[in-house]
Amino acid sequence: MTKSTLLRRKKKIALIAHDNKKEDMMEWAKYNMGTLSQHELYATGTTGRLIEKELGLEITVLESGPLGGDLQIGACIARGEIDFLIFFWDPLAQLPHDPDVKALLRVAAVWNIPIACNRASADFIISSPLMCQEYQRILPDYDSYRERFNR
Ligand code: PGA
Repeated sequence: MTKSTLLRRKKKIALIAHDNKKEDMMEWAKYNMGTLSQHELYATGTTGRLIEKELGLEITVLESGPLGGDLQIGACIARGEIDFLIFFWDPLAQLPHDPDVKALLRVAAVWNIPIACNRASADFIISSPLMCQEYQRILPDYDSYRERFNR
């Protein structure tokens, strides 16, 4: 049987922007402030503090990305505590935390979490009718993987 988890109307949204993408994130968040304010927001340190300061949105601010913040968001995803990810990563920069970025993108794919990696995708996600509805997100079935040494 296919497993799924219920996403409520109030979504849990993680926001992350690399330094060269912070301006993009601020413009996008400002434009979508009305919608974002209806949801529960999480962010890595610097991104979160900028959004708090400039837009006054309530937000759970985690550690800065290069200091483990991306991995904290990844852990929230693995615990089922984040519904989708707006992650403006910088495709032109080599970053000290590249392995963490890869880990975060990977764990989001593992758990079927929607990710927007640029403004156009973020526009599509935030304007989806599913934003203000409940949604059953399919949970991939990893039971046989978990049980592989118990047979
Ligand atoms: P920051 O982290 O919001 O603390 O800048 C983002 C990142 O670089 O992953």
